[in-house]
Amino acid sequence: MTLSRLANPQSIAILGASERPSIGRTLLTSLERLGYPGHIYPINPKYSQLAGHRCYASVTDLPEAPDVVALCVSADNMLDHMHALADRGAGAAVIYGGGFAERGEEGRRLQEAITGICRETGISLCGPNCMGVLNPPARSTTYIYEVRDPAGLAGNVGFISQSGSIGNGMLSDVRRFGFSLLASTGNEAVTDTADFIDYLVDDPNTRVIATFTETVRSPDRYVAALDRAADQGKPVVVLKVGQSERVRRAITSHTGGLAGESRVFSELLRAHRAIEVKDLDELTEVLAVCQGKRWPRGRRLSVITGSGGQAELILDVATAASLDLPPLSTEDRATVESVLGSITGDGNPLDSWGNGDWRTNFPHTLATLRDSSDHDVIVLCQDNSENQPMVSHDRLLDEVLLLVDSAAKSDKPHYFMNMRPGVMNLTQISHLTQHGIPQVGGSRQGLGAIDRVARYMAGLPPLWTPQHSIGKENKPLASGARRVISEFDAKRLLHPYGLRVTQERLVQSLNEAKAAAAAIGFPVVIKVVSDDIPHKSEYGLVIVAIHSEAELAAAWQLLAQRLTKIGKPAAVDGYVVQEFIADGIEVFGGISRDPDFGLSIAFGMGGVAIEVMRDFALRLLPLRQGDIEAMIAETRGAALLNPHRGDPGADIQGLIDCLYALAAFAQDHADQIAEIDLNPIKVLPKGKGCVVVDALIVLR
Ligand code: ADP
Ligand code: MG
Repeated sequence: MTLSRLANPQSIAILGASERPSIGRTLLTSLERLGYPGHIYPINPKYSQLAGHRCYASVTDLPEAPDVVALCVSADNMLDHMHALADRGAGAAVIYGGGFAERGEEGRRLQEAITGICRETGISLCGPNCMGVLNPPARSTTYIYEVRDPAGLAGNVGFISQSGSIGNGMLSDVRRFGFSLLASTGNEAVTDTADFIDYLVDDPNTRVIATFTETVRSPDRYVAALDRAADQGKPVVVLKVGQSERVRRAITSHTGGLAGESRVFSELLRAHRAIEVKDLDELTEVLAVCQGKRWPRGRRLSVITGSGGQAELILDVATAASLDLPPLSTEDRATVESVLGSITGDGNPLDSWGNGDWRTNFPHTLATLRDSSDHDVIVLCQDNSENQPMVSHDRLLDEVLLLVDSAAKSDKPHYFMNMRPGVMNLTQISHLTQHGIPQVGGSRQGLGAIDRVARYMAGLPPLWTPQHSIGKENKPLASGARRVISEFDAKRLLHPYGLRVTQERLVQSLNEAKAAAAAIGFPVVIKVVSDDIPHKSEYGLVIVAIHSEAELAAAWQLLAQRLTKIGKPAAVDGYVVQEFIADGIEVFGGISRDPDFGLSIAFGMGGVAIEVMRDFALRLLPLRQGDIEAMIAETRGAALLNPHRGDPGADIQGLIDCLYALAAFAQDHADQIAEIDLNPIKVLPKGKGCVVVDALIVLR
């Protein structure tokens, strides 16, 4: 759907325009205040003139096919109106009112009928249940709120909101950035967030795109739009709330249960180079950072304060947020101390107060950090606000000028930061803005935003490709109606991909079991093999650490009894006798399928840790280089695998290989797989690799 007639209309018709207070009246006022250069067509049979414009009796009477029609009327005759619009050749429409899909069956049918008309005739509809579209650079609006003062409204942020109020909130503050477009998309019956992202990617006024999103309506187009934005180097900053309603999936595996929608969505954003934020404070600061003349080209922040207390607080906040504040090198520290006297801490954040002569000290620390090869970004922290009762006006400006001066002597991006979000001084901002220096606010949100943009700028690592394709791509994994592939067969399928599995045999009788145990060597494990029983130990159908034939015979008896008890003796394909892996740390690896976004791989520590702590990492397939290593690093419990106190630690490289092999298997059979659980994988001591002890494959 092309949006130009909706987003950048040359003519705007207002159905239901009026002199009385109403949306129609507001639009006329706003268009006048903006100085809209296009044609304005009020429509209302009760008037012949409105606000200096000729007023028309109906859409049919308009002298030209309008680019957009703002439907400032109730839902009652909406279908008739839409037919009239279609007949007159309108390019786009905005329906503000509610009473559609969000309100029951009847409303949903009405919305569907309207959608049908729009699809047939190519009308790009905004809404229903929305606030419309504001295009400050084009001085056009169909936005429901009155433009009071257009100064500062135009800028480079394209904002797409499924919530009108969030859009209004964004429009309430243009101190640091303005808007190239603000679209409130409402129910998205015809045009949706993906269409607007697509439009803004090509819009020359837009430097950064931001969205407030509750639901992604067309996953494929959404992902394609994110990819186009990434290709064009326009960041898409996404604040996603709520969970879309979705039919509950039948979930067999652990992994399926873990990979909930919001985690997968976060991974989707990462995989397609969007910037995810969790709240409006984080969102605003990212948009502020994007106003800079230079964008960060590395994550290593240096922060200058005039206070030890601030420095300590910032360090705590930054550490908790995993931000990178490298300490000063010995040489840089010596340079700083040669002027400031001895400094506290490791010099980042750098309390530059020293002997109190800040006019000497600040420029000196700025100069040192400009020259430092350990830092990519310089942040000067000062708490100032509008109309503040303390501190002379000159001094407020002097601090900013020092920063401006430093930025002019370096190509490192410089930032001015207030400790709290949203607090700022307009005189300072105006100077900073002139010189392309962003003001950010809130040590967590502000520094976090610089870090987010730095990571965006680093781009994505290349896609990972399996080194040894084994030529079994997408051969059917099982025949006929088989939906679950239980442990024994699953391991046979995985083994060729380089996954080491337990030595084991499938047996049907106690005698065969004894022979298998003798061949494998005690101690052994015996388990029931059945596609109908994916979680064996739930029913006591796994017996470990069997040390003798006698114990084996007893175990055999026990398994038979337990099977009878659960009424499933017939469902059994046999029994597996396998080596008992006494050593190692239990971890889990798995694959799951999201109905919208496809396969993802998960990794976590074994046992209750995953379910209780939800401490696991996720990535969408196909993987990118380094993904598995990063997944292990970001799982807190995986620290247990590291060497400690003389213990050489677990075979992390073996684990990495194992998880990449799992990904290779899943990528090769992507359209067949619903879920995979390797649970547990035992990670042996360093140099010994890892062993898949249990496996389960669920087919689509
Ligand atoms: P389930 O189908 O219930 O997941 P598993 O095959 O994973 O059954 O076995 C349950 C538990 O028994 C495992 O989590 C692991 O701790 C232990 N176990 C299973 N097989 C072995 C083995 N070969 N060596 C050591 N421990 C094992
Ligand atoms: Mg298991």
